Amino acid sequence: MKIIAIGRNYAEHIAELDNERPDEPVIFTKPDTAILKNNQPFYYPDFTKDIHFEVEILLKISKEGKYVEKQHANNYFDEIGIGIDFTARDLQSKAKEKGLPWAIAKGFNGSAPISGFVPKEQFPDLSNLNFGLKQNGEWKQQGNTSLMLYDFDYIISYVSQFFTLKKGDILFTGTPKGVGPIKIGDTLEAFIENEKKLEVEIK
Ligand code: MG
Repeated sequence: MKIIAIGRNYAEHIAELDNERPDEPVIFTKPDTAILKNNQPFYYPDFTKDIHFEVEILLKISKEGKYVEKQHANNYFDEIGIGIDFTARDLQSKAKEKGLPWAIAKGFNGSAPISGFVPKEQFPDLSNLNFGLKQNGEWKQQGNTSLMLYDFDYIISYVSQFFTLKKGDILFTGTPKGVGPIKIGDTLEAFIENEKKLEVEIK
């Protein structure tokens, strides 16, 4: 399986990082070794001093798709979840300055803690879904999918031009405002509609 992630999909997050608003979705990938499941802890690596949390809604791809048309995109995912796109912001900033890829800054071991997945039918309106993240019990990110620049169907259609989607692939759909640094000893909790779906301890 593969992980495909969308950057800069929420206007207020673009503003907080002083980034340019993209004309098309910004895409990056993470290897499968980035995944942490079942609330496994995250061990802070020594090659970075500034890892940020980015909470994101996840889509689980349900069948193979290539050049998926937007009006059919809905048939290509059946479950949603929540995850954290850990980002080594110091390495990413250095890469951005030099115009180099973000592969290490976004794809290092454990950089993708994910929740279990639930059928999308459990949610009446995927384009109006509340989600968020608490750090040590305090709300840091509270977003709603209505604020996405590119919605789920557009993302699937767009991404599938370049990367054939396969059953089991996971899409990270972008983070709302409020990202921030983690430190050893933190507990992160991620929620969909105020229901806790994921917890990660930082060790
Ligand atoms: Mg992200």
